[in-house]
Amino acid sequence: MTETKKPVKKPRGVARLIENKCIACGARCQSACPVNCIEMTEAGEPIILSEKCIGCIKCVKVCPSEALEMYFTPEELKILEEIARQQEGAAPAVEEADDEAATLAKKLAVYKNVWVFVEQTEGVPARVSWELLGVGAELATARNTELCAVVIGSGVEHLCAEAFCFGARKVYLIDAPVFRYYRTQSYLEATCYLIEKHKPEIILMGATGLGRDLAGAVATRVATGLTADCTGLAIDDKGNLMQTRPAFGGNIMATIMCDKFRPQMATVRPNVMPMSPRREGATGEIIRESCPVREDDLAVKVLEIISDSKSKDSVDITAADFIVSGGRGMMGSDNFRLLKDLADEIGGVVGASRSAVDAGWMPQDRQVGQTGKTVRPKIYIACGISGAIQHLVGMQDADMIIAINRDKEAPIFEVATYGIVGDLFKVIPAITARIREIKGAKAA
Ligand SMILES: Cc1cc2nc3c(=O)[nH]c(=O)nc-3n(C[C@H](O)[C@H](O)[C@H](O)COP(=O)(O)OP(=O)(O)OC[C@H]3O[C@@H](n4cnc5c(N)ncnc54)[C@H](O)[C@@H]3O)c2cc1C
Ligand code: SF4
Ligand code: SF4
Repeated sequence: MTETKKPVKKPRGVARLIENKCIACGARCQSACPVNCIEMTEAGEPIILSEKCIGCIKCVKVCPSEALEMYFTPEELKILEEIARQQEGAAPAVEEADDEAATLAKKLAVYKNVWVFVEQTEGVPARVSWELLGVGAELATARNTELCAVVIGSGVEHLCAEAFCFGARKVYLIDAPVFRYYRTQSYLEATCYLIEKHKPEIILMGATGLGRDLAGAVATRVATGLTADCTGLAIDDKGNLMQTRPAFGGNIMATIMCDKFRPQMATVRPNVMPMSPRREGATGEIIRESCPVREDDLAVKVLEIISDSKSKDSVDITAADFIVSGGRGMMGSDNFRLLKDLADEIGGVVGASRSAVDAGWMPQDRQVGQTGKTVRPKIYIACGISGAIQHLVGMQDADMIIAINRDKEAPIFEVATYGIVGDLFKVIPAITARIREIKGAKAA
């Protein structure tokens, strides 16, 4: 009988900084580390938390100045020498890489289903939740898994039926008085409780004030990745979520993956995804859960809710069917009166480019674009707006775009359904006058 020798595990070592070699390149090593075990000093040099280091060598490979090396203890060096002797002349072992991939695959396989967090205020759902169920359904089909909704609140069971109508097959419901008002701590506990128990592979939330707050807190707690403000979501051939969003000031679109951690989390702004079709009477399974959060444990108390939605000038441009937007070409705040006149005639609202907002001509809540709102009106009239990419990402999905600009080369014409090359100070009053004329003739 021959005795089979147990293979010795190859030591991986830990990363170590070589003195005086770091050129403070901007923390490439930290970005490369998959287990967050590199902290940066104020001088931009890494501190490696060796007790957390898994010896993956990624930091060593990305360092442009060869300032990092792998450190092995004398005992580990002896084992390495022994392995090298054994392998002399033999084919290189692939067992180790296979081991790592298999462990990761096993870890990820536990996570299943696509979840959409249903945002609500006093039982009124945010529309973006239903938009997300639409794209969530596509992802669930691509992964051959179930689309589920998460409803947390007080007196919110009616939202489960709504979620079924918009495509969810299952709803995880936590309904208790302590969840009446959104507070980060209570919703974080409830969401993490559900994640821990049911292990979803993808979680989508609206990139609203609430969604951004909750998603960031949850991703930090469960130690996974989060991509904010995605404009595209799809599944790659390995089954990972491809999360696309503008990067570098909107000049490129980056596709971000979170292939080693679960759940994969993304937020999407309202109006970015098309509304999912409503299937009246659809049903599904409600899974009632209770999470032990007590009012006494919460540091934040809601004393009073003061709504600003009814204030004199407040306008929700994201809900408007018709938007007349002005840019730097408007030349001054007073000239926005021309846009208001036109908007009033067509039952619309006035929007603005960031230049117009930065100039103080319009309030920030009217800004359309990457750092403003995303809109999907039936008609968007862009007046004196050049069509920078950061503006286009906020309005290019309008059903019809009419652009008025005196520069025929302006990029806005590339996305416009109809373009008018001319002076807006002549064109806009002429359109308004013509609409009034038609309306007058009809009334007579
Ligand atoms: C990180 C980042 C985020 C950003 N986010 C946003 C955002 O959310 N929204 C946004 O809008 N921008 C955003 N921007 C700014 C963006 O890059 C542009 O600078 C901005 O959109 C330009 O605004 P504008 O088209 O009004 O002005 P301009 O680019 O100056 O264009 C003015 C246009 O008016 C036309 N015009 C002038 N006079 C007349 C006239 N009498 N009649 C007809 N046409 C006339 C001109 O031909 C010109 O095309 C962002 C930029 C960065 C870097
Ligand atoms: S070797 Fe890997 S785990 Fe260790 S510090 Fe470098 S990147 Fe992080
Ligand atoms: S990657 Fe290299 S040069 Fe850049 S910060 Fe890290 S150690 Fe320094």
